[in-house]
Amino acid sequence: MSDFETDVLVAGAGPAGLLLAAELALAGVRTTIVERLPERPPYCRGFNLNARALDLLARRGLAEGLVAEGHRVPHAPATGLPGPLLLDGAATDHPFSLGIPQTRVEEVLEARALELGAEILRGHDLRSFTQSADEVTAVVHNGRFGRTIRARFLAGCDGGRSTVRKQAGIGFPGVDARWYALLGDVECDLPYGPSAGPDGRSLFVIPRPGYVRIVVREDDPPSDKDTPVTLERLQAQVDAVLGRHVELRAPRWLSRFGDAARLASRYREGRVLLAGDAAHIHPPAGAIGVNVALDDAFNLGWKLAATVRGTAPEGLLDTYHDERHAAGARILANTRAQVALEEAGEEPWADLMRRVAAHPAGNRALAEIITGLDACYEPGGHPWLGRLAPDVPLRVSGAETHLAALLHAGRPVLLDLTGSFAAWPAVVTASSPSISDVAAVLLRPDGHVAWVGTPDSGDAGLAEAMQRWVGDVPVPTSA
Ligand SMILES: Cc1cc2nc3c(=O)[nH]c(=O)nc-3n(C[C@H](O)[C@H](O)[C@H](O)COP(=O)(O)OP(=O)(O)OC[C@H]3O[C@@H](n4cnc5c(N)ncnc54)[C@H](O)[C@@H]3O)c2cc1C
Repeated sequence: MSDFETDVLVAGAGPAGLLLAAELALAGVRTTIVERLPERPPYCRGFNLNARALDLLARRGLAEGLVAEGHRVPHAPATGLPGPLLLDGAATDHPFSLGIPQTRVEEVLEARALELGAEILRGHDLRSFTQSADEVTAVVHNGRFGRTIRARFLAGCDGGRSTVRKQAGIGFPGVDARWYALLGDVECDLPYGPSAGPDGRSLFVIPRPGYVRIVVREDDPPSDKDTPVTLERLQAQVDAVLGRHVELRAPRWLSRFGDAARLASRYREGRVLLAGDAAHIHPPAGAIGVNVALDDAFNLGWKLAATVRGTAPEGLLDTYHDERHAAGARILANTRAQVALEEAGEEPWADLMRRVAAHPAGNRALAEIITGLDACYEPGGHPWLGRLAPDVPLRVSGAETHLAALLHAGRPVLLDLTGSFAAWPAVVTASSPSISDVAAVLLRPDGHVAWVGTPDSGDAGLAEAMQRWVGDVPVPTSA
């Protein structure tokens, strides 16, 4: 076995692993991804980025190119509601969902991670690891031989059946699937949308480029849910639901999924961290999986980088669990609630929810909740505190720019809108035509607001916020 060293070993080159690697490499941290599959699969699971994911990607200049390629839909995906959840007026810089294949998002993230210096070892399966107080040692197999990789941290971005999570002894409590659905990427002559059969059961046909995705509940799923789905099996189920034969052709991908919901009991165990599906699985309602995986990785990247580089304030890395575990619990609740709503029929509470969704303010609130746009890591203070700062236009050193651009380097920024904070570290002095009641904001590298100064409050609390989120930086002696 050969011995190999890196700062962070990432297991899994899905959306979570790739964005995490890019974030770590941006901060100059040596990062190696091991990915079990020799190449990206030919099929595509997800087909959207939501408004929250686009807002985050824009903080690194990654959203614009994707937006130019994809197609915009002015609402948030949701299940169980009679009409769309409109994003017009929602708290986002991107009031739309973007139709774009998950595989294309992964390509863009992979190119960025490689360009910034991360390494990707495809066809390498992480089989086991041990951790000590100083390092993690993983055993990785490439099908022919094994090798040991030593790293300072291990990030399990290895999907719902995460080897890392299991080997770290992290529990995965939750609820088992109550139903399974068959999924088939095929060609057929069914119309897009729902198609009902004579006994009221229905299936759903989603348009895809050059083919359709059929989703149909499975009668009598096999006891081993990993049993491969065949075209014959899908064909029989479609015919049974429709009560007639509709020929399915040219299968590209056949699969099965259920409505299980589970949340890792901890997102960190010593030098091991979990992100994305490795940390949470949930029903597909709201098409949120890729988006949450990116959200986790974006939250973790700068914190882990600062920890590896030795600049992190005490406890910074633990805030990853605090913030994202709570977000994961909300996502499980939101997705399960959407499934319950879909199944609720004429239940009075479901009628109430549908009326809330029909009300413009309720509709917007649901859109923000289901997409995660309501993320606030420090509720209760100034309306900006803990939230993602809006991408407002700014003027810096005589040039027009915007807030998200200040975060492209992945470093904290003290945005000074009055010229009174020049002696502070990380300061960028700017003027803004659209902000009047804020004197300065401390932006974390992920764009969330760590401190807000108003014209009345001066720099009260800023030194503490710097210490908590940025670390041991020199603050003005008057502070
Ligand atoms: C049919 C379907 C449709 C979906 N549609 C959407 C949608 O429209 N929108 C949306 O947001 N989400 C959607 N999702 C969910 C989304 O695909 C996942 O939530 C997302 O891929 C999770 O990203 P991840 O990086 O956490 O994990 P994954 O994408 O699962 O990546 C994990 C990677 O780890 C690798 N790996 C596993 N074990 C090991 C190991 N031991 N060693 C090395 N590598 C390993 C795997 O090969 C894989 O490449 C859909 C999912 C399915 C199944």
